[in-house]
Order: sequence, then C-alpha cells, then structure tokens
Amino acid sequence: MTFVIATHNAKKLKELKRILEPLGFDAVIREDLPEVEETGTTFAENALLKAESACKVTGMPAIADDSGLVVDALGGAPGVYSARYAGEGATDRQRYEKLLEELREVPTEQRTARFVSAVCCVFPDGKILTAEGACEGIIAFGPKGEGGFGYDPIFLVGERSYAEMTAEEKDSISHRGRALAKLAQELENWKKNG
Ligand code: IMP
Repeated sequence: MTFVIATHNAKKLKELKRILEPLGFDAVIREDLPEVEETGTTFAENALLKAESACKVTGMPAIADDSGLVVDALGGAPGVYSARYAGEGATDRQRYEKLLEELREVPTEQRTARFVSAVCCVFPDGKILTAEGACEGIIAFGPKGEGGFGYDPIFLVGERSYAEMTAEEKDSISHRGRALAKLAQELENWKKNG
C-alpha cells in the first residue's frame, strides 16, 4: 500500500521513509501539501490534523508524525511546542541551546526526559489508525555527535546521544521507530480483520 507522508521537515521525512519501507509501506512525498497549524494540545491531536489535511488534499492514505521532547525538570516542556521552542524561524541549534541554558543548574539525576512520537494514518474513507511511541533518556550538559537532527545531540540514551548513533541504531530504539512499528501492526490487524 502506498502512503503519502505528511511533513515539511526534510530530515523527519527521510527518517519516516527509512523506517516505513522495511515495514512494507511505500512512502511517497508530495510537494503540494499545505502547512497545517498545529493547534492541538497533544501529539496525537496534531498528528491527526496533519494526516487528515494530507489525505484530503491528495485523496491518498496519509501518515503523519507529531513528536517532541518532554523534559521532567521543565514540567513537560517543550513537549508539543518543541518545534517552536526558540520562536519561529529558529535553527535546531538555537532550540537545543535554549534548552541547555534552561537546564544549566539542573543536576544529572533531575535531567530525565523522553522523546514522544504520535503517528496517525488517515484513509480517504475516513478510517483512522493511531499509535504512540516513547524513548526515555536524559538531557546532556552539551551537544554530542554529528548525526540526526533537531534535539538529537543533547538527548542521551545510556552513554550516547541520538546524534552519535547510526540510523539503524536510532530507529531500533527511537520514539518514532517504536510508534511506526505499532502502527504497522495496527495496519496488519486491520488488513486481516477489516
Ligand atoms: P513537529 O512534530 O514537526 O511539530 O516537530 C517536532 C520537533 O521535535 C522538531 O523541532 C524536532 O526538532 C523535534 N524532534 C522530533 N523528533 C525528533 C528526533 O527524532 N530527534 C530530534 N529532534 C526531534
């Protein structure tokens, strides 16, 4: 089955395609998708808004991810506002530097955090499938590694940041990898049972 991927984030798109294809899904990209205002207060609500919009515009089944970093010492921030944390037009680096600054005085044991991804698949007949995945970690004191995107250099799982992992390593434990594996299972069940 072929799905359109509902995102404008080129690095996230690359990751979604790379995870979905081995799970047996053809993922296509459309340049004509409108920007969707993320008005939801949860990852799941925003994923649904994005997938619904892409399905409506293309007439194809659409998959969207909404994700972010939930930091305990900041009461769950930046959470659903992860992309907007340092204001419109900020770079990935400006966002993670702001987060590091907020946590400057916070000791290691209180730097716990998790990445969360909600994924949603909307079909032209109105059918909706959803799944969520999370990955626990801690926020580093400075950036480490050259790979990945977004907050990857400051998110540690064990000793290593997401940005120090190979693509395969990150996908096997990441919030997005876990959410999409669950969605793939949901799609399988739905194909079998209707
Ligand atoms: P959205 O889901 O497009 O609203 O934005 C998610 C925000 O969280 C972006 O700013 C990303 O930088 C960040 N984010 C989501 N997933 C990841 C990830 O796997 N690594 C690093 N940053 C991520």
